This record gives sequence, C-alpha cells and structure tokens, in this order.
Amino acid sequence: MSRGAIAKINLSALQHNLAVVRALAPKSKILAMIKSRAYGHGLIEMARALSGADGLGVACLEEAMVLREAGIKNQLIAMSGFFEASEIPLFEQHDITAVIHNPEQVKMLTTAKIPLNCWLKLDSGMHRLGFPLKEAEEVFAQVKPSVVMTHLATADEIDNQDAQAQISKFNHAVKNLKTEFSITNSAGVIVFPEAQKNWVRPGIMLYGASPFAHKTAQELNLQPVMTLQAQLISIHEQQAGDKIGYGGTYTCEKPMTIGTLAIGYGDGYPRHARNGTPVLIHGQRCPIVGRVSMDLITVDLSNVENAKIGDRVIMWGEGLPVEEIAACAGTISYELLCDVSARVKFEYIP
Ligand SMILES: *Cc1c(COP(=O)(O)O)cnc(C)c1O
Repeated sequence: MSRGAIAKINLSALQHNLAVVRALAPKSKILAMIKSRAYGHGLIEMARALSGADGLGVACLEEAMVLREAGIKNQLIAMSGFFEASEIPLFEQHDITAVIHNPEQVKMLTTAKIPLNCWLKLDSGMHRLGFPLKEAEEVFAQVKPSVVMTHLATADEIDNQDAQAQISKFNHAVKNLKTEFSITNSAGVIVFPEAQKNWVRPGIMLYGASPFAHKTAQELNLQPVMTLQAQLISIHEQQAGDKIGYGGTYTCEKPMTIGTLAIGYGDGYPRHARNGTPVLIHGQRCPIVGRVSMDLITVDLSNVENAKIGDRVIMWGEGLPVEEIAACAGTISYELLCDVSARVKFEYIP
C-alpha cells in the first residue's frame, strides 16, 4: 500500500472548461495560461491537453523551453519576455513570442538586431508591468508587436469600476494602432465581454476554479480539474480533554474518533488551514482538528460511520471546491493549486 497522496487531473473537465471559454468569447482567440506548471497541474500535460487553444501563455523562457523540448508546436507567449539579452537568440530560434514591457528590453532588442515576435504590454492602471499609456504609439512604432495587451487589477471584484476605467483608458490610448489587442483574464472574460478583443487570456477558469469570491465555479458552469486525494492511515478514540497535534491547538470536548491522513504541508496542503477546514470521506464532510503537519493531518471522524484504514479522502476537487479550502487557509485557489508539491503523484484521467 503506497502513501496515496494523489492529484487526479480530469482532462475532460479541462476540455469542458475550455469550451466554456469558447462559448463566452466566441470571436476571440484563446491564450490558455499555463505558467507555473499550469497552475500546478503539470506543464507539459496541460500544454498537450490545451493544444486546441490558439496559444499557450507561460511566464518565461525556461517554461517555454520545457515545452519546445517536449515537442509542443503551439504558439508560446512568455508574459515577462526576456530578462537579459542572451535570451533573445533562444526566443528567435525556438519561435517563442516575448512580451515587451520595459525600455531596457527595447534597448536589448534594438542592439541584438534579431527580429522577434513580440507582444507589447501597456500599464493601464495596475502599476506592475508595462509602458505608460501615453508612450503607446511611440513604443509601438519601435517594437512592432503583433498584439498590444494590458492587465486588469480588479476584474474579480463586485465593484469593478477601476477595471472599467482601465479598459476605457487603454482603448483610448490604442485607438490609432492597427494591430490586435488583449485585455482580459478569467474574471475579465466573464465580466467585460466588450473587452474580450482579439485575444482572451484565461487561466484559473480553465482549471475549474472561480476567479470570484462572490460566485462559485458551479454557478459559472466550470468543473474542477484537480482532485487532491489522501489516504486514511490511522483511526483512534480520544477522550474529552485530549489535545490533538502540534501545539495542542484542538481540545476534544467529548469522546471523539480521530482519523489521521497521510498528507500535509510537505505535499502542498496549506499549513494555515484552520481548525474546521473540511475534507470529504465517503462523501461526508469531516473537519480538520489540530494543526496540519508536514506529512499528516488529523480529522474528526464523527460524521462518518464506516470509515476504515485505507479509505480515500478528498482534500479538494470533486465535491469540495478548492476555493473553499483556500478561504479556510486565508488564501486563494491559485496558490493552493500552484503549491501541490512533487511528492504528490499525478494521474491524468481522459
Ligand atoms: C496569469 C495571467 C492571466 C490569467 O489570469 P487568471 O486570473 O488565472 O485567469 C492573464 N494574463 C496575464 C498577464 C497573466 O499573467
């Protein structure tokens, strides 16, 4: 019997979610965002499964090279572009598109005299990466990008007037440019159909999690792609007053049946998941009691009558949204998915 910490990756759910994006943005090309090991789902596997998208978005050359070496032929766009001039020949050689976002990159490109496929990034109000809007026309003339893009800071919020303002300012700044445009991430695709333009850039929704705190994935017709499973490896009876786990942060108020699961923060399960964070055993929600440790987690089995050693436990995924676990740990689904560690076994299910 092996340890049983498994991430099951449901490829048909992924295709379903891609189809949801197509239906929401029927006139746009889709840049499927697969940076950071495809939000923890497996870079190469997700690139293959998403080859029906119009392009694949990675963060940097290293991620793009892994894909080229695996024989992935799709258009690849590196969102941070190159960091030093020595990368430029590799971008050209392997036909990787670079997002140009600062003047240093323009200088390196001009000096290298190597023609690259480029996208140009403008800062319409997020103030993280990109050229100021007022420089749009000047930089456009220098870089000759195939796409001009920007990124929204607050598309996922209920009151998203700031995002609306970003879109208006961007549209105004680029109105004389004859090229393609890209503005929206998952939240933007859903909230601002008028901003879908030539390319949409969905990430989290492809993996079946909601980009919103106020709307569930189910309400958006998205299906979870990753189900993280663990195994129940110990069952024991505790008495009222017994404390559970490191620091004794949970005290049994009555006699309780405690189960121990073979998964922990060493697998990427968040250590900050609070007492009461649910797991699913035989379809029943059982609360975590005590601190999450590196290899093990303790849960209250009072809700399940027939629990036995070797049982499968769902930590998040099918029947238990990763967004809910993220909220219990004070973070967002993106971080939990990205953090699933190399110790977890990945199984890809057609
Ligand atoms: C990661 C990323 C996205 C995707 O964002 P989601 O919220 O996951 O849809 C879109 N655009 C850029 C520039 C990104 O870096």
